[in-house]
Amino acid sequence: MLDTYKDKGARKKLIDELAFKGIKDVNVLNAINKVPRHFFFSKTFHAHAYTDKAFPIGEGQTISQPYTVAYQTQMLQVEKGDKVLEIGTGSGYQSAILLEMGAQVYTIERHESLHKKANALLTKLGYKYTSICGDGTKGLSTQAPYDKIIVTAGAPVIPNTLIVQLKIGGIMIIPVGDDKKQKMLSIVKKSATAFEKIELDYFSFVPLVGENGWKK
Ligand code: SAM
Repeated sequence: MLDTYKDKGARKKLIDELAFKGIKDVNVLNAINKVPRHFFFSKTFHAHAYTDKAFPIGEGQTISQPYTVAYQTQMLQVEKGDKVLEIGTGSGYQSAILLEMGAQVYTIERHESLHKKANALLTKLGYKYTSICGDGTKGLSTQAPYDKIIVTAGAPVIPNTLIVQLKIGGIMIIPVGDDKKQKMLSIVKKSATAFEKIELDYFSFVPLVGENGWKK
């Protein structure tokens, strides 16, 4: 896998575009600068890797738009050593960004083919993390509690199972809405029974399908 000067240049331009669109967290921009997004694309579609757009990855799913990845990661306020649960591994790109930021990553994907492909790539790139194939709406209770939870698919409601698995003081970033658009929510767990909900911008995600999400 090659990361040429041309790729690096395209990535730098993308960083400038993301900064112009309002991404301020230098750690997020640095991580995006470090991860060759074209590694997550098949060779044929390499040229699409540094445009600020979502792109199909198979199974009717997408690698999220770079702006969306940057926005969710910025809102997650990732700190080195944070234990982060990601729901929706997809291509594995978001996991790579979190890992570059020093997070301890647990990621869940419901499609076996995507889970396997992402795991093979991330392992080849040398990342150490935990990846699970299954229904992420149930979380991963065996490793809970988490400092942060990031949901990268659109949910119909906030799954309570995930709030339960968040540490007190922890943050969950989740898009919630209908099948067309979702409002990004930042959930801050205040105590075992209380949380604060901050409403952010609108986005459009593929659906979160599972026991505590959309039904198939
Ligand atoms: N984070 C991904 C990336 O960087 O490529 C974005 C993935 S895509 C927007 C959302 C992913 O969530 C899809 O791969 C989809 O299969 C997955 N997904 C949907 N419902 C899920 C569930 N209940 N559990 C785990 N993964 C789920």
